[in-house]
Formats: sequence, structure tokens, C-alpha cells
Amino acid sequence: MAYLTLKNINKIYPNGYHAVHNFNLEMERGEFIVFVGPSGCGKSTTLRMIAGLEDISNGEFLIDGKRANEQGPRERGVAMVFQSYALYPQMSVYDNIAFGLELQGADDDYIDEKVRNTARILGLTDYLDRLPRALSGGQRQRVAIGRALIRKVGIFLMDEPLSNLDAKQRVTMRSEITQIHRETGATTIYVTHDQTEAMTMADRIVVMKDGYVQQVGTPRELYFNPVNVFVAGFIGEPPMNFIRTRVQGGKIDIAGKSLDLNRLGKKLGTYEGKEIVFGFRPEAIRLGEQEKAFVLSASVELTEMLGDNTNVYITMGDIHSILKVDPHDTPEVDSDIVFSIPFESVYLFDGENEMVID
Ligand code: ADP
Repeated sequence: MAYLTLKNINKIYPNGYHAVHNFNLEMERGEFIVFVGPSGCGKSTTLRMIAGLEDISNGEFLIDGKRANEQGPRERGVAMVFQSYALYPQMSVYDNIAFGLELQGADDDYIDEKVRNTARILGLTDYLDRLPRALSGGQRQRVAIGRALIRKVGIFLMDEPLSNLDAKQRVTMRSEITQIHRETGATTIYVTHDQTEAMTMADRIVVMKDGYVQQVGTPRELYFNPVNVFVAGFIGEPPMNFIRTRVQGGKIDIAGKSLDLNRLGKKLGTYEGKEIVFGFRPEAIRLGEQEKAFVLSASVELTEMLGDNTNVYITMGDIHSILKVDPHDTPEVDSDIVFSIPFESVYLFDGENEMVID
């Protein structure tokens, strides 16, 4: 049986705003689930309903198969880390971290060991005697994470916990949280608008948009098998390139180059005369002409050398796309290039409902 079950969960705020629509999810014990999507899509609202901080307007939330809608946060056994770190200002880092265990009535030796271990994992050992106001934003957020982590709870909830950290700290904390999750095995739900965090940390990702779940899957599934244009564009950096085009005589035309859709092995009979969206990932291309690929020509507008790769901004007539190439192959700005999109890396989507065409 699933550990956590969300059945047709809806949230309608008192002002009538319908923030979450028919959210369904089953979570296994120990899973690390990430809710991802643009700001305002309903991630925090869903998390807060799971935490017991927000009423569930409609639907059922089950813990271990038992209805938990009416339970408060404590009964549900949740610990939550928020975006803003609400620490006790008059208490040292040590006491802030220890507080939850003290409430649970744990003995001093146990608390001491746990606090020191948590502080070590979070790089806070040297700061245990300090007050929160003598810490940087990043350090305070670590204390907040430590405080939540140290308690023995069934469900660990995090709402954008890294958003106040700088880029480097975020990368470090990302792998630290993953490591901590591996050690503690706590069932975790993590909210972020950042697809990189979702991809690097999650066992499974829930992609949301406008209050609706778009897709639930492993990072791999979302990357290789997105169900629609939104997910395809949201997962991956730089995002997938999309080109709108019309099917004519079983072919599409992109920047004067024709592609026979039969060669992609997709059934497109019903799309004759209709608009479809042609998609390819920046990193899926090869420079030059290749077999079993759609070969296109483009002009280079701009290049961004990032070290491990270069983003190449190209134009093909009035079409703008981005390619990701090896930095050694960085083309000259204003030069003309030829590149190939392997047939197996081509995505096609319905032009109207934007769902993937298999
Ligand atoms: P996210 O976490 O994905 O950024 P939220 O869950 O915070 O999104 O918000 C989802 C939507 O619900 C937003 O449009 C937001 O403005 C709205 N919302 C959030 N809280 C309330 C509230 N208390 N009353 C009315 N609308 C709200």
C-alpha cells in the first residue's frame, strides 16, 4: 500500500480562487518527490494541504491508507522547512537545532549526538554557539533544515528551501539534501520552481501548471518522454526548441528543408493539413551532416561559452533556436552552419492541444 495518497485533491481559496485541481498522487515510504512548476502553479498550496496548514477543499488525503484530512500537522507527523527561515532569535544555533528533540523529551546525550551529527552534515559545527543574527542567510537556512531534519517524523516537507542561497551554496546543499535523504530515508516532498533541482534530487517529479498536474515521472521519463509541450519545455536547460509547422503531403517544411514524416516512424495520417509542433533538444543535435537525421542550415547569431559546453543561438529565416555543442566546436558568430537532428531525437506535438504525438 502507498504511504501517502492524494485522491482528487482540490483547493478553492475563500476568495473563490481554484488553486489546485484534481491532484492525484501515490507516494511510497522513503520516496523523494519534487513538485515543480512556474510560480503560482499551486505547488505550495498542495504542500500546505499535505502539511495540514491549509484545508483540503475537496478530495482525500491518506496516510498509510487512513484518512488524514482532519488531522493537524503534529498528528500527521510532518516537519517542514520553509523558504524563510523562522529561527528563534534568542537561541543559539545548537538550541535551535535541538529544540524539536527537546520537545519530544529525548535525553541530553541523544540530543547532543544528534545535534552534532546534523551540524556536521550541514557544515554548522563551528557556529553552534552563535545566535541566528550572526549568521549569513545561507547558514540560517541550514539551521532551519537541521532543525526540521533532527526530529523523527514520517513526512519531511520542504518549500523552496534553497531559494535564499547563492548559486554555489545551492549546488552544495542540493547534494547534501540528497545525501541526508539517503541517510535518513525520510519520505520527502520538495517544492521548487527550479527544474535543475527537480532533476538532480527527485526520485519522481510532479510537474504542475495553472493548478493542474501535467505529468508525474522519474527525471528520466520526463526528459525523454514528456507528455506535452509544457513539460518538454520546462524540463531541460536550455529548453527544447519548438517550431510550429503544417503537415502537407505527409511532410513538414522547416526553413526550406523538407522532412518526410514516415522516416520518423510516427503515425501521422490524421494530421494531414494540420499544424503540429516540431521539437528538438539543444543537446540532441550533431554539427555537420549525419545519416538518419534531419539536416538543417542556420546562421549563428550569438554564442555563449559555458565551459563544459557552448550554447549557440541560431536563426533559420525567422525561426530562432538554441544548439548546445562541445566548446571545442564553437562556431564563429555570423557564420553559416549545418547541423543534424537524429530522427530518434525529434519530438512532435499536436498543434492544438500540444500533447505529444507518439
Ligand atoms: P506556487 O507555490 O506554485 O508558487 P501557490 O500554491 O503559492 O503557488 O499559489 C497558487 C495560486 O493560489 C496563486 O495564484 C496564488 O496567488 C493563489 N493563492 C495562494 N494563496 C492564496 C490565498 N490565501 N487566497 C487566495 N489565493 C491564493
